[in-house]
Amino acid sequence: MDRVVILDGYTDEPAGLGVPPYLDVYPRYVAGAAWSVDKSIDVRYFTIDQVRGDWAGFVKIANETRVLIVIAGIVTPGKYLGGEPIRLEEIERIANMITKPIKILGGPVARFGYGSAGSAIAIPRSRFQRYYDLVVTGDADLVVYELLRNSYQSSKVSPALTHVDYGLINKFAVLGARVVTQHPNYGKNLIIELETYKSCPRYITGGCSFCATVRYGPVKYREAEAIVEEVEALYSLGLGTSGLVGRPTSTLTWPMTRVSWNSQGLIQRLLRSYSLVLGTWRPNWRPCTSTMLIQALFIIGLRRVLKLRRY
Ligand code: SF4
Repeated sequence: MDRVVILDGYTDEPAGLGVPPYLDVYPRYVAGAAWSVDKSIDVRYFTIDQVRGDWAGFVKIANETRVLIVIAGIVTPGKYLGGEPIRLEEIERIANMITKPIKILGGPVARFGYGSAGSAIAIPRSRFQRYYDLVVTGDADLVVYELLRNSYQSSKVSPALTHVDYGLINKFAVLGARVVTQHPNYGKNLIIELETYKSCPRYITGGCSFCATVRYGPVKYREAEAIVEEVEALYSLGLGTSGLVGRPTSTLTWPMTRVSWNSQGLIQRLLRSYSLVLGTWRPNWRPCTSTMLIQALFIIGLRRVLKLRRY
């Protein structure tokens, strides 16, 4: 049985937090991409903190795999209580120690470089090209998907592959949901980030000067049905009112006007799934002050709708 190992070196962007107890979308989408090609693939998920606790064990498992994907990227560096993001030397050390599989580097570090501290110039991604077979400047899940579809021939896959819409992502998100059960915080305090659109509405003005989120391009919205299906998949795994939260620039600013008000069943499912999210939403500090204000207005509006419609 083929195996894919995902090493989560943690991500932190204005659009999503992936440092425990948070889990961002990247590992879930990659797992879903692998399982969508072959549902029997043995997908193993590790956090960098787990690897630090047993380097030898991890190297043994990773060297028996077909693909190793390291996900990392701290765009907005902060202080973290739940884990320590992967260090620069660890990104390189892992690639040196693990020789057998196809090695992929994905996440913001591969797109924008390695950010070590606020205001510091990022170390360019070109530095990692000698350590990894593919340094993904596009979408890591799509690159893994094409790699597996091309019988693991990395020369046939462009690291710049990027989703043009949410078609495949929606599939990956639902299929990849079950990888959350491998997270060390699963069953405790795991908090899942949901994506409801890409980039930031401030793209049209160039975005905030310190932020890389607008470099994802024009905003692309996700359909309501797809959001509901992902929430339901996660909820069925036991992640409910204590474990779901929205990516801060997206979930609570996703435009409700995109839902036809004739779709009563869908609206009920959407609002119920959103109420799961809102049930635990708390205003964590992020640099998106303008987005936070929009979120606050959105919550007030949504709560009025919920009350008026008695959901
Ligand atoms: S509001 Fe500013 S900081 Fe927040 S995601 Fe948009 S551009 Fe980035």
